[in-house]
Amino acid sequence: MVILGIECTAHTLGIGIVNSEGKVLADSKAVYTPKEGGIHPREAAENHQKAAITVLQAAINEANITLDQLRGVAFSQGPGLPPALRVGAVIARSLAKSLNIPLLGINHCVAHIEQARFFCQAKIPLVIYLSGGNTQITTLAAHRYRIFGETLDIALGNMLDMFARAANLAHPGGPKVEQLAKQAENGYHPLPYTVKGMDLAFSGLLTAAKQLLKKGTALEDVCYSLQETAFSMIAEVTERALAHTQREEIILTGGVAANSRLKEMLQIVANEQSAHFASVPVKYAGDNGAMIAYNGLLLLNSGNKTSLNESGIQSKWRLDQVDIHWES
Ligand code: AMP
Ligand code: MG
Repeated sequence: MVILGIECTAHTLGIGIVNSEGKVLADSKAVYTPKEGGIHPREAAENHQKAAITVLQAAINEANITLDQLRGVAFSQGPGLPPALRVGAVIARSLAKSLNIPLLGINHCVAHIEQARFFCQAKIPLVIYLSGGNTQITTLAAHRYRIFGETLDIALGNMLDMFARAANLAHPGGPKVEQLAKQAENGYHPLPYTVKGMDLAFSGLLTAAKQLLKKGTALEDVCYSLQETAFSMIAEVTERALAHTQREEIILTGGVAANSRLKEMLQIVANEQSAHFASVPVKYAGDNGAMIAYNGLLLLNSGNKTSLNESGIQSKWRLDQVDIHWES
């Protein structure tokens, strides 16, 4: 059995193919990068539309299959930017209809988490999900991913990207901030640390970091201080969530999971709590089609599919609104 998955929530049009064991047979993508500023939703959608045939063909070639071998078409139904989501949904509907195979509407956040759980071989872990659009600390309980902590304003990845833009660094900012932080020479500059209960906020930190830079502090030192502050906030909430949920595993996923310093800090939290820590492979940290395909496989195997009537995009679909049918 072979399932195709289409990721199309924001900057990435990803098309992945997995087999019945969840093995990735193909993971093809085209990434839209704005000329300046943040993502322009309609421009992103136009790019995805133009790239669709090429990315689809590349995935089919990489997997070395023919379209008639597909047993399901999964697509990211939400959350995300409506114009981008619509492009993915249209491709998925037409493929499913023309091949007469099930359509599988997937929640993007659940897909990131399930793919990480698969690669980390984790059972019921505490999940730290950090990306350009999401910052959530969650775990599965009674068939749903329950959110224990999340950002009250902007996502961690988004904050790093916005800081990088202010510092005239190219998009995406996360990797650049990480590299510069390694070259810091003068140590830590205090920045606002905002944890409210189990939730986090990053916009005050962003403003203060930009001000620090304006005052003439070396960019490397600001990057270092920014990372240390933001990642400590994540570590604090992680530690508390671990204590409350009594989970024995922590997994990290989302684009920010590529960051070594963050992984180092979460490893320390895990060690102190005698928990096991694992992170999604860097190759799959960001948005990808394979995670949608894999989640499609789980959905199909649990006897579910999405009818045409139910296949409308859900741009604000929250992680904790999804029933996790495949977990008994
Ligand atoms: P996603 O939204 O899951 O595709 O992830 C993209 C986000 O991950 C962007 O905000 C990037 O800046 C961020 N990111 C990618 N690599 C790194 C890194 N090495 N350190 C921190 N953030 C990163
Ligand atoms: Mg994502």
